[in-house]
Amino acid sequence: MADCPGVAHLAAMADGGLARIRAPGGALTANAARAIADAASELGSGIIDLTNRANLQIRGLPLDAGPALAARLAAAGAAMDGPADRRRNILLDPLSGLDPAEIHDCRPLGTALDGAMSRAPWIGALSPKFSFALDGGGSSGVGAIASDVVALADEAGFTIAFAGTAVHARPDVAMDVLLRIAETAAARGPGVRAVDLPVLPLLEELARRFGVRPAAAVARRLSPGLGALYGAVVIPVPVGRLDSAMLRWLADAADRNGCGGLILAPWSAVVLPGVAPEAADHLLFASETIGFTPVAVAGRLTVAACAGAPSCERAREPAKALAAAILALAAQDRSLLPDRPTSLHLSACPKSCASSAAADLLLVGASDGQGWDMRRDARPRSPAPPERRLDAPSPRDILALLD
Ligand code: SF4
Repeated sequence: MADCPGVAHLAAMADGGLARIRAPGGALTANAARAIADAASELGSGIIDLTNRANLQIRGLPLDAGPALAARLAAAGAAMDGPADRRRNILLDPLSGLDPAEIHDCRPLGTALDGAMSRAPWIGALSPKFSFALDGGGSSGVGAIASDVVALADEAGFTIAFAGTAVHARPDVAMDVLLRIAETAAARGPGVRAVDLPVLPLLEELARRFGVRPAAAVARRLSPGLGALYGAVVIPVPVGRLDSAMLRWLADAADRNGCGGLILAPWSAVVLPGVAPEAADHLLFASETIGFTPVAVAGRLTVAACAGAPSCERAREPAKALAAAILALAAQDRSLLPDRPTSLHLSACPKSCASSAAADLLLVGASDGQGWDMRRDARPRSPAPPERRLDAPSPRDILALLD
């Protein structure tokens, strides 16, 4: 499989080519979203996954579709030329500029960093896995999402954490500090991540050039918002899987009820900003009729699932499809939901691509045979023996195990 796909650079998966679309800060215009939906249905299988770093992935593309896809999406402003496109891993709080608890709106910093990286002469040498999270200090806590470099705003600037250390930077030098950390990684080789950097010399350089001072990293906790919030509507996407019709619906809703744009959230949801409070309930109800998860269901049952079969060659079980069927059944019959907020993780093999977090109920498949190992209150790759084995469980069977 090709490493870290982009728009023109596809990864070969069991269900065809996979393209990854990185939107700075997760923000897309409605027209760009429609272009992605059209490309998915006309060039690919029509399936679009929303990742836990707020990127979109088009599945089922011919392996030579990259140039045609890149041309379409660049015309809609959803891709850029050259090696920078695969290295725009800049995560922002999707509620930036909306959340009243936020200390600093990081969108201008994200846009400037994205532009500077795209122009940097060293960008082609940076690992495509190298990632930033810019956290404005709001309620969502996106700084908790694992990233090479996390910048967390406070009243005096940013605490910038990387490689197990942290510095505090003034606002006027924050972008230069972020860029220098990435440039240092690029200079050391294409696979180098922040954790591989020589910390002491880099800290000395950052202090000398930008006046940063030592700081303590601040722990953040991800707190996903859903429903009507801060003049926006946050619509849950079932296990992060969309199809072309759902993405077109979001684009049309953004034009009709919002401000013509949508923001991808790293918690399987899409934010439509600018929705009047009196329109929010109707919009959420309408979203349910075309396959989005009701907020009440998503709030009670958090489901993570990897792509599974038939998308991944390591999978024998259809993890994503089974997880989506569980959420659809729970939406139809809410008496099947657990009484308390509960987490469920389906991983079709022990690699656990979807999540490394502990789950109340964890089902893990195998690459060499069908069925699931079931554990409770467990993390993926747990060494504990499974509590029981499940063969071909139905969505109803799995919901019954959650109580
Ligand atoms: S967890 Fe395993 S089966 Fe699932 S997508 Fe990752 S590698 Fe494939």
